[in-house]
Amino acid sequence: MLDAVFFRRWMAVTSAAVDREAERLTALDSPIGDADHGTNLQRGFSAVRAAMDEEPPATPGAVLTRSGRLLISTVGGASGPLYGTLLRRTGKALGDAPEVSREQLAEALRTGVDAVRQLGGAAPGDKTMIDALVPAVDALGDSFAAARAAAEEGAVATTPLRARKGRASYLGERSIGHQDPGATSAALLIACLADASDASGAYEAGEASGG
Ligand code: ADP
Ligand code: MG
Repeated sequence: MLDAVFFRRWMAVTSAAVDREAERLTALDSPIGDADHGTNLQRGFSAVRAAMDEEPPATPGAVLTRSGRLLISTVGGASGPLYGTLLRRTGKALGDAPEVSREQLAEALRTGVDAVRQLGGAAPGDKTMIDALVPAVDALGDSFAAARAAAEEGAVATTPLRARKGRASYLGERSIGHQDPGATSAALLIACLADASDASGAYEAGEASGG
C-alpha cells in the first residue's frame, strides 16, 4: 500500500528530477515553444518541495491536492494549470484514505488525466502531455515499471506528430520532428513515481518478480 510518505517522496523525487532536467525541458520548448518549460516546472516543484517539508500533509490525497494547488499558483503558462489540475483532481479522487493501492492510484490518475483533457481540450495524438499520460495510466494497472515505459514511449512518439494544441500548434507543419516538452516532463513525472516505488521497497505481488 502507498501512504503519505510515499506520495511526499514522489513529489521530492520529481522536484529533484525537474532541477536535473530543467535545461533539457527548456531546450525542447525552444524550437516549438517559448523556451520556458523547464524553468516553469522548476519554480512549481521547488514550491511544492518547500511546502511538503514545512508542513507535511498526512494523507496521499492531501499531498496531491496541495501540490496541485501550488503548481496552479506558481507555474504559470499552459502547463501550470494543466499539471496543477492533474495532481489536484487525482488527489481529490483519492479522498482522505491513509493508504491507497497502486490500482486505486491508477484509477484516481485516470480521473486526473480526464480533467486535464477537459481543461485543455487535447486528445491523444495532439502532441501534448496527454500523449505520455494516457498510456501511463493504462499501464499503471499492470505495474509502476510498465507505466514508466509506456509514458516514455508516448513522449518519444510525439516527435513525428503535428501539434494541435498549445503554443506549438501555431507552428503547424513546422512542429513536426520535435519531441513535445510537456509529454517529456509528463514521462519524467511518471518515471519519478516508479523511482519512488523502487525506493520504498514496497513491492506488491507480481512486481517482486521484475514486473
Ligand atoms: P507555455 O506553452 O504556456 O509556455 P509550457 O512551456 O510550460 O507552457 O508548457 C508547454 C507544454 O504544455 C506543451 O509541450 C504541451 O505538452 C502542454 N500543453 C499545452 N497546451 C496544452 C493543452 N491544451 N492540453 C494539454 N497539454 C498542453
Ligand atoms: Mg513554454
